[in-house]
Amino acid sequence: MKLRAPFLIAVGILSLVSIAGPVTAAAPESKSQITILYDAFGTDPSMTKDWGFSALVEIAGKRILFDTGNDADIFAANVKAKGVDLKTLDFVVLSHRHSDHMAGLNYVLSINPTVKIYAPKEGFGIYGSSLPSSFYRKDETLPPEMRYYGGSPPQVMNFGAAWRGANFELIDKTTEIAPGMTLIALVSDAPGTKELNELSLAINTPEGMVLVVGCSHPGIERIVEAAASINPKIRLIAGGFHLVVAPDDVVAKTVAALKDTFKVESIAPGHCTGEPMFAAVKKAFGDRYLYAGLGTTLPLGANAGSDMRRGEGPALQQDDLTTYRRLARREDPFGILQARRLRTKASQL
Ligand SMILES: [Zn+2]
Ligand SMILES: [Zn+2]
Repeated sequence: MKLRAPFLIAVGILSLVSIAGPVTAAAPESKSQITILYDAFGTDPSMTKDWGFSALVEIAGKRILFDTGNDADIFAANVKAKGVDLKTLDFVVLSHRHSDHMAGLNYVLSINPTVKIYAPKEGFGIYGSSLPSSFYRKDETLPPEMRYYGGSPPQVMNFGAAWRGANFELIDKTTEIAPGMTLIALVSDAPGTKELNELSLAINTPEGMVLVVGCSHPGIERIVEAAASINPKIRLIAGGFHLVVAPDDVVAKTVAALKDTFKVESIAPGHCTGEPMFAAVKKAFGDRYLYAGLGTTLPLGANAGSDMRRGEGPALQQDDLTTYRRLARREDPFGILQARRLRTKASQL
């Protein structure tokens, strides 16, 4: 009997490894990189800047479109400018239901109408949903014409998606969708986005986790913590951290968590990360900060990095900064940032 416990632990560990093991090696000619297709800063003159996020993730022989930007026409133009073939995508991930991440889906579907789309499952959500009809209270004393479905509801009630016929697979818990590729599902608790479900893509590579995030509404630290529970070595985080209106103490605390608690190797912030966070991350990470403006390609190969723009922060040309600031105001729908700015101005008078 004494031997059983270690044996069972060993079996347990082995089965964990098989679930969460790294992505399988791809054919040598397949690309390993992330290309930013939609953002509000960047220096590629062939692309159009706008508020929103989209990235093409090419890794382990898979081509994954993560989010689709804010405007179908701009998204289409940026996709063409980069020569991205949407017909050969393996799947699409829509991180959450905000329009600056999903408005380009119409264009994707016009090119590839059957592509598999992973999206968060939400009650009566825009990507469709369903509920067992047992959810509502019945009153059998009523005549049939006063009862839902005449008193005989279907077992499951289905609610429509805004994109009819699209091949959605709805995710409501963290799920490994392909070997080594996990969608982390978390719910936001922040004012303004309470109960919003968001998916982040975590890829377990032999060199550590590559994490792609949309807006990080549930909190970037919670997302990284979930990724670290699969593999504690966090190799790269790319995407929006949603600190665009966060005060300095929150920015400082987040940078410290990423650098010191999670020991994130490289970081490629974009979208709603926010200018103060760009600056703080650049200072803390130095040349492990990878510039990720619109049109940038972040190589993910084992010996990647020599041709990467490191430690630059967002493009600092004045016109680029002006665009980012103008577009970022959209992330302040409740006027929090503006109110704070006015308060600071008043206190300086
Ligand atoms: Zn966003
Ligand atoms: Zn959002």
